[in-house]
Amino acid sequence: MQLLWLRNDLRLHDHPGFELARQRQQPLAVVYILPSHWLQTDSHGTHRLSAVKARFLRTCLIQLHRDLYKENIRLTLTSGDPVEVLTQLHQQHPFELLTHTAQAPEEADWLAQLQPHMTITTYESQTLFSEEQLAPLLNQNSFPASFSGFRKQVERKLDIQPPEPIAPSPLLLTDWTPDVPGNIQWPDDWHLQPQPGFNRLGGEQPGIKWLKEYLWQRRAIDHYKSTRNRLTGDDYSSQISPWLAWGSLSPRYVWQQINDYESEFGSSEHSGWLKQELLWREFFHWSLRVNQHRFFTYSGLKAGELTSPPAFNQSNWDAWRNASTGFPMIDAGLNELHQSGFVSNRLRQILASFFIHELQLDWRLGARWFEQHLIDFDVASNWGNWSYIAGSGHDPRNGRYFMLNKQLRQYDPELSHIHLWLPELKDSTLEHICQHQQGQQRLKEYPAPIVTVKHKELFKDQSKNLSQKLSKAR
Ligand SMILES: Cc1cc2nc3c(=O)[nH]c(=O)nc-3n(C[C@H](O)[C@H](O)[C@H](O)COP(=O)(O)OP(=O)(O)OC[C@H]3O[C@@H](n4cnc5c(N)ncnc54)[C@H](O)[C@@H]3O)c2cc1C
Repeated sequence: MQLLWLRNDLRLHDHPGFELARQRQQPLAVVYILPSHWLQTDSHGTHRLSAVKARFLRTCLIQLHRDLYKENIRLTLTSGDPVEVLTQLHQQHPFELLTHTAQAPEEADWLAQLQPHMTITTYESQTLFSEEQLAPLLNQNSFPASFSGFRKQVERKLDIQPPEPIAPSPLLLTDWTPDVPGNIQWPDDWHLQPQPGFNRLGGEQPGIKWLKEYLWQRRAIDHYKSTRNRLTGDDYSSQISPWLAWGSLSPRYVWQQINDYESEFGSSEHSGWLKQELLWREFFHWSLRVNQHRFFTYSGLKAGELTSPPAFNQSNWDAWRNASTGFPMIDAGLNELHQSGFVSNRLRQILASFFIHELQLDWRLGARWFEQHLIDFDVASNWGNWSYIAGSGHDPRNGRYFMLNKQLRQYDPELSHIHLWLPELKDSTLEHICQHQQGQQRLKEYPAPIVTVKHKELFKDQSKNLSQKLSKAR
């Protein structure tokens, strides 16, 4: 018998695991285990599954349940410690385990614990490239330090292209149903009412439908490069990340769709830029594979433990968690994150920069907060981007600082985002808000900023000091 354990590969199209099962022609069980520790709160009050994130995941699973049902295969859902659940199931009915390769150390640890008890066959489905294609780069000495280095290697030196997605075929298998300990325990409030902002269903069919609408009906890819930094709207960027993160969309399928679009309408700087963003995702995915635990340490990829985390500041942390920092641009972004589970890339950068450089909190806590709330949480992209902005990741400039008012004037001059997520400020003007954020003239109807924002020069000095320390250490 065979058991396919799904994690972030919740789809049927371009799925090497289902393809393996189909070729073997043995009875198949398909299982999803919600790790119970995702719901356990840590000492800072964070966990891994907010209500909005749970709602999106639930719709991914419901869709997959329906799609598998049409193939006469049942999707078994349960919660628990994956190692315990799978070991117990294996004791009841021995099986060969088919599952995704480990990406993060946590998953590698699960697989290592299961290995002595059962035969495991792994496959890859979350990346554009395969491990064989990138083999020359996949160790700490040869993995490129920067994204541009990675892109050059992939495009020019190795000259590789993502493989074609696997063509769909009916499974034509019998299934067996494992006797699992119980159903999934969802967070109590998963059935929250829909909010403004990102509001689409999870799952393979909704993901494919949206991708096709974005490309072929709206032809929104034609303005991607010009609009991708906006903060509001439903096609300023592709907004495919939630489906990619849960594996309801295959990155190779997305790539192929963009290629098809380019064949029909010609390639442009916009389609090229969108592909480049998919390469950023790829870069972080493979960097995580190479760097493993280092990805999650405070000093990250920078040599040695040069700096120690800042002292924990409870009141700054509470203000962040309650979206009450007194900075309308930040509080609006946090409201969007909490209520919709999705925030534009530009605003993610602004939020992360504010958390690290103004609130002076440990960037890893911010990454955990995003992990709890983002419906597109992806371990490599999230932790990779946070450490990039903190200066401990792949950024050659040792971190990024975003000046709040400059960003507000450039990306929300009409205050569409602030008015959507902080309707109480609907009568305020851009000038009022900038003055308030700068600590000058306070808005009457809004709490005072909890910190004074830095100036870019100050950040530059800090970053220069860090560079000097780093070069001395090397
Ligand atoms: C602090 C921070 C945390 C982030 N956390 C996540 C996360 O948990 N999950 C996640 O998918 N992305 C994350 N990103 C990257 C990026 O913000 C999102 O991928 C993007 O906003 C998703 O919207 P989109 O699908 O419309 O992207 P588009 O702009 O349309 O890009 C298409 C796809 O390319 C990939 N991509 C785009 N930008 C990046 C990037 N900077 N890094 C890696 N991949 C990228 C995504 O898969 C995205 O869906 C984070 C960025 C920052 C600054």
